[in-house]
Amino acid sequence: MFIKEKFQKKDKVISFEIFPPNRSITLKQLLDVIDELSIFRPDFISVTYGASGNSSSNYTIDIAEYIKEKYTIEAMPHLTCITSEKSKIDDIMDQLLKKDLKNVLALRGDLPKDTLKLSDSANGFKYASDLIEYINENNKSIGIAAACYPEGHVESASLEEDIENLKTKVQKGVDFLITQMFFDNDKFYNFKEKTESKNINVPITIGIMPVTNAKQIKKIVSLSGASVPTKLNNLLNKYEYDKASMFEAGIEYACSQMNELISYKVDGFHLYVMNQPETARKIYKNMNW
Ligand code: FAD
Repeated sequence: MFIKEKFQKKDKVISFEIFPPNRSITLKQLLDVIDELSIFRPDFISVTYGASGNSSSNYTIDIAEYIKEKYTIEAMPHLTCITSEKSKIDDIMDQLLKKDLKNVLALRGDLPKDTLKLSDSANGFKYASDLIEYINENNKSIGIAAACYPEGHVESASLEEDIENLKTKVQKGVDFLITQMFFDNDKFYNFKEKTESKNINVPITIGIMPVTNAKQIKKIVSLSGASVPTKLNNLLNKYEYDKASMFEAGIEYACSQMNELISYKVDGFHLYVMNQPETARKIYKNMNW
């Protein structure tokens, strides 16, 4: 099923994001995680693609296929293009079709440090919009999602410039958008107003990152450039060395963020559960889902 149909039918689309096996999780452990997450019957589960198509990306499509086949939950692989040749993208599209995976999150990917400048990209994929155009020209039967950044992408000179580029990307044929994490809802309201004024009208599902590990989140925040409101910063400092309290406080923060967003009216939530079923369990309980 195309995920866009879920946005047409449902009040709120709820999804999870997981990542493939790496040094922190084995394949066997990940399969157990998926089993536990499947109990919540999310509308879809997305599976990240290793940065620059590294070795963990080999698992992305197989894991998505496993989720869809074993649990009949729609699964969406992520796909980056900045270091991929067209032949590789063709091969991946063939695999998606064969494995009945109907949706993909089309991304540029981060530029690998020191080894590649954007101008060096000789494969024809400079931006996510190039990948989206390519997929749409060659495969009419794949639904495409893309990323968006309520505080602007780190490489953009301004939010306005990033939204101009987002508009181009959406016009190439995007079904829905997933936001980068943010912790201050006002940033989203401001972004939504600006996208609406530019007639960007596809559904936008909100990426929610429950702050359950202070150390991990400080690193993620420094990379993404997400602003941290004082209230959250105080929690991070207070519970830096108290994992259990940080977990509880982080879930509570994420739920109050979501409750406020629900009253504003949103299309859905994409939970960055970081392969932790306990995070999903607590959120579902607190939200009464
Ligand atoms: P783009 O949309 O191409 O934008 C990148 C930059 O280029 C922006 O600053 C934009 O304003 C600018 N730009 C776009 N088009 C133009 C143009 N025509 N002219 C000039 N400038 C332009 N990374 C992974 O490696 N694996 C993952 O699985 C993964 N999953 C993600 C999931 C989500 C929900 C999000 C939000 C991000 C994810 N990322 C992932 C990170 C993503 O790859 C990086 O943020 C990357 O730097 C940008 O990717 P993009 O697709 O948003 O790029």
